[in-house]
Amino acid sequence: MTIDEKFMKKAIHQARRAAALGEIPIGCVIVCDGKVIARGFNQRLHKHSTLAHAELEAIDRASRKLGDWRLEGCTMYVTLEPCQMCSGALVQSRIDRVVIGTMNPKAGCAGSLLNILQMPQFNHQVEITYGVCEQECSAVLTDFFADLRVRVKEEKAARKAAETSSLVRMRPEAGTEPPASADPSEKNPQNSEENP
Ligand SMILES: [Zn+2]
Repeated sequence: MTIDEKFMKKAIHQARRAAALGEIPIGCVIVCDGKVIARGFNQRLHKHSTLAHAELEAIDRASRKLGDWRLEGCTMYVTLEPCQMCSGALVQSRIDRVVIGTMNPKAGCAGSLLNILQMPQFNHQVEITYGVCEQECSAVLTDFFADLRVRVKEEKAARKAAETSSLVRMRPEAGTEPPASADPSEKNPQNSEENP
């Protein structure tokens, strides 16, 4: 196993933590001097925050740990190609290198839709390595969405079954209809006329 694969496995572990919470499984770690200094996994649902992407969580933790907003000399290992927001933050952080597991052709901004990490117009460009543990990174996501589809289908079926059984319960059976004289004034003779 290469050093890149070793750290990508740790990012995959973070992605699985997200999946365990029902979040889209994306994970990352930041490595400095051969050590993991920060971890992050997607928590957008639980934190009710657009900003709770794995990469931003890890960037924030790494900066706190180093006591510096600059992440010079650091490498991020991330299971899925970063979005426009995270790619922008990575450029801002001056991180040296980003290692990507699998690409995100619909939203990735480190080579798919755009390559924000390597725009010559910005004052910092990030070295990129693609396709480390690609199959495993991709499988974490496809497995998650396959499970989700099954769960949604099961919940739908359970809801339909519950609705059907409550409809059956609502149907009046012989002998259970209310008596014909179900007048509220008869039921409660102490009405306003007697109690001014
Ligand atoms: Zn992002």
